[in-house]
Amino acid sequence: MCGIVGYIGSKRAYPILIKGLSRLEYRGYDSAGVALLEDGKLNVFKRQGKVLDLTNFVADNPTSGTVGIGHTRWATHGLPNDINAHPHTSGDGSITLVHNGIIENYDILKKELIKRGHTFKSETDTEVLVHLIEDIKEKSGVSLAEAVRIALNEVHGAYAIVVISPEEPNKIIAAKKSSPLVIGMGEDEYYLASDATPIVEYTKNVVYLEDEQIAIIDRENGLRIISISNKEVSPYVQELEMQLEELEKGGYEHFMLKEIYEQPRAIHDSFRGRLNAKEGWVSLGGIKDYEDQIAKANRIIIIACGTSWHAALVAEYYFEDLARIPVEVEYASEFRYRNPIIRKDDVVIAISQSGETADTLAALKMAKERGATLLGIVNVVGSTISRVTDAGSYTHAGPEIGVASTKAFTTQLVLLAMMALSIGHKRGTIEDEKFQTLLDELEALPEKIEKLLKSDDYIREVSTIYKDAQNALYLGRGSSFPIALEGALKLKEISYIHAEGYPAAEMKHGPIALIDENMPVFVIATHGENYEKVVSNIQEVKARKGKLIAIVSKGDTMVREIADHVIEIPISDEFVVPILATIPFQLISYHIAVMRECNVDQPRNLAKSVTVE
Ligand code: GLU
Repeated sequence: MCGIVGYIGSKRAYPILIKGLSRLEYRGYDSAGVALLEDGKLNVFKRQGKVLDLTNFVADNPTSGTVGIGHTRWATHGLPNDINAHPHTSGDGSITLVHNGIIENYDILKKELIKRGHTFKSETDTEVLVHLIEDIKEKSGVSLAEAVRIALNEVHGAYAIVVISPEEPNKIIAAKKSSPLVIGMGEDEYYLASDATPIVEYTKNVVYLEDEQIAIIDRENGLRIISISNKEVSPYVQELEMQLEELEKGGYEHFMLKEIYEQPRAIHDSFRGRLNAKEGWVSLGGIKDYEDQIAKANRIIIIACGTSWHAALVAEYYFEDLARIPVEVEYASEFRYRNPIIRKDDVVIAISQSGETADTLAALKMAKERGATLLGIVNVVGSTISRVTDAGSYTHAGPEIGVASTKAFTTQLVLLAMMALSIGHKRGTIEDEKFQTLLDELEALPEKIEKLLKSDDYIREVSTIYKDAQNALYLGRGSSFPIALEGALKLKEISYIHAEGYPAAEMKHGPIALIDENMPVFVIATHGENYEKVVSNIQEVKARKGKLIAIVSKGDTMVREIADHVIEIPISDEFVVPILATIPFQLISYHIAVMRECNVDQPRNLAKSVTVE
């Protein structure tokens, strides 16, 4: 979490930094700040609140410097106030930095530095780092870059930092460990950012800094990279595929709505070159070399967090049913702190939109040490997970800016479905006819979602009725149960209504006690193996006067008679129902959040790329 930016070149840094911070605001929006070097002077502006609040605060202040850094915060240590906002500056005002991550041994370091006469202004862990660099620089008389290097050898935890100093006004120093940092290479100018979105409009040439590397950028000598153990590293320049238009709202009121509507296109992009129902094949290039290993796996362990964890739960049905390989789904944050049994013939799949999720990364590292094969399913091209795994596939959803995940989730499902199908086919655990049907079902998804999105006006009408609810229950069975979890999560995240997802049959073991005439119950009741059982569960809700909103297959009559509202999805095989049923739940949460005047794209306390553990 937290977004950091930096610029050195001949242009005014301030507008570049502000624009960059707005792009990174999805990573945190507790406070924002910039520091600029101007005529040998350091100007720091920081403020609690959003990037817009910062720009109002800066207003007529001097901002003509051509070197600068910026930060948008998701607080980990200390309240989101003006003082704790980044950049943080050393006691003598000679060094200032922005930081994304957590300095885990900050307390010991802080006490030590206080003993040595340093005075702290904020409650952040970050401030320790800037005092430590100052202390080293002052005592050893080394350059800023060397002081940063020595300091980083003393800290534990995660960091992506960008540092400047009025004493070395033609330099920017940056470093990273476990938090991302990208360097954009322009013509005699350099851009730094937590991801490529602030960079793409200026240059497509980027260097992804690796863990424990330090970038020393000098106006005259350009970019030099060293490791924190002081070894030279030659920068590996890559070309960005991202397009600028993908980062704009394109006429939609919110990014989330735009991203919901982009799903037919995003899913189509996920299929490109990987699936052809007419010719009867599915093939994921990214995992091709590992297909034998996956097909022979003793077990698949899927690790993920949040929405990606829900995708993993659906994938458990896919892999077990189609490929007959046992699957375990784990919260990365729990898995890594156990002592799990991982064998060499286990395949571990990590799912993460950003590819930077700290807990997922740490869990992957552990699985790697224990010899498992690692696969990644990520959206952000070039992200850390895509680099540390043995193989993997990109979801190709395009940049997802809304904090609540939508198209990233459905493309994850599509990709996992393709993976399970291709492995099942290879293992001979799917009959040819079924294989073909499922290929057809997948390929038909973009068109079906397009149709489903046409019910948006009706879905908004239904949402109006429940906008003031205080609680909500989401029910589903089989592979639709994880969609109930996802529906509840979406509502919680952006409209702040307490919601729970439950397997429909489990309701009678507890949540049924909550049902009364004020409780909306959202249920997935599409045709399929569990249909009649779900209808019984619906009756149980009705008998207790709960309000029922059911997602049904087109033409359904039975549920229509019982439920207060039905939302139809196109008739489909159960295999793709989780993907289709997700869409109405996304729209319901979106409309309710808008009606409750919540900040849809930047819900309170949340951030998108969860780079803290
Ligand atoms: N730990 C720093 C703070 O609280 C940075 C937070 C982050 O990167 O999420 O200010």
